[in-house]
Amino acid sequence: MTDSSEKVYQCIIIGSGPAGLSAALYAARADLAPIVLSGMDLGGQVSKTDNIENYPGFVDGIQGPDLVASFQQQAERFGAEIVYDSATAVDLSQRPFKVTTYGGEYLAEALIITTGASVRELGVSGEREFTGKGVSYCATCDGHFFKEKDLIVVGGGDSALKEGIFLTRFAKAVTIVHRRDELRGGVYLANKAKENPKIDFIWDTVITEVIGDDTVNAVRLKNVKTGQEEVRDIDGVFVFIGHDPNTELFKDQLEMDENGYLVVDQHMHTNLPGVFAAGEVCDPHFQQVVISAGMGAAAAMEAVEYLEDQED
Ligand SMILES: Cc1cc2nc3c(=O)[nH]c(=O)nc-3n(C[C@H](O)[C@H](O)[C@H](O)COP(=O)(O)OP(=O)(O)OC[C@H]3O[C@@H](n4cnc5c(N)ncnc54)[C@H](O)[C@@H]3O)c2cc1C
Repeated sequence: MTDSSEKVYQCIIIGSGPAGLSAALYAARADLAPIVLSGMDLGGQVSKTDNIENYPGFVDGIQGPDLVASFQQQAERFGAEIVYDSATAVDLSQRPFKVTTYGGEYLAEALIITTGASVRELGVSGEREFTGKGVSYCATCDGHFFKEKDLIVVGGGDSALKEGIFLTRFAKAVTIVHRRDELRGGVYLANKAKENPKIDFIWDTVITEVIGDDTVNAVRLKNVKTGQEEVRDIDGVFVFIGHDPNTELFKDQLEMDENGYLVVDQHMHTNLPGVFAAGEVCDPHFQQVVISAGMGAAAAMEAVEYLEDQED
């Protein structure tokens, strides 16, 4: 455990996804000796997906966990320290800023917030009860448990399509249930999913209940246009319906939009000097590794400039 209540760090990065680890790389290369509070998910969302095919430089794609490992090693090579802990509170009313974690308290002249976003739940009966027993939010983590099984994927965006295609490696059949009558995802993935013989679609439909005994064995579906309901036998439900930003810690301390995303200017400054944000915590729009990584680098460069200005 690192208890650093006496020491004032130049830069603390909260979050270890692509934004956090890229910020760490840039901050470390500027000799800020940053620490990165990893949170519960070292590497963030990307560590939970298999092949990333759109991160530049990897012609044949790269596995999510491998990309995370490279980000981490590169940041550590220049002196970033990863602390396997989560921020439980922040006090931005004082300088240096105070970050409380399960393991101690940290003080920092500059903060970079990269806490990303968490998967959104369906919010229906049975969902929580059967999470880990047939309900999943991570195809890479859980897909192999469903060999030759019938699965439902909920969602109509890129994540749902990509993970639905991935699940066909294991599943007998994958049914994508979408509440609208057209997909939100990009054309490439949409075509790939439509051409996959193991995938079919149910349109204009939502899940209203997850049903099972020890594990999931059915879902109740409702057509949002006709109101018609149907109970469908199924072995597993994978949910990919979007994200909510992890910004609870910063409530009443930093400016947020109506959906709870941190508001930053084009240089990743929050409304509080010395506090920067990057990645999905302030980006509800792009939600891509390359964008989060770029924002993380930008935030660190701005933190360097901020700290230099403080010295003048
Ligand atoms: C299934 C799936 C497939 C995807 N596929 C692709 C793809 O093919 N290509 C692509 O470009 N993008 C893909 N994405 C999106 C991509 O993973 C995200 O855009 C990217 O990971 C966002 O990075 P981030 O660093 O902003 O946030 P996140 O990845 O969300 O990371 C947030 C970090 O903050 C940490 N954290 C949270 N709260 C705290 C706290 N209190 N204290 C300390 N740390 C905290 C977490 O532990 C985590 O490390 C996919 C996403 C999913 C879910």
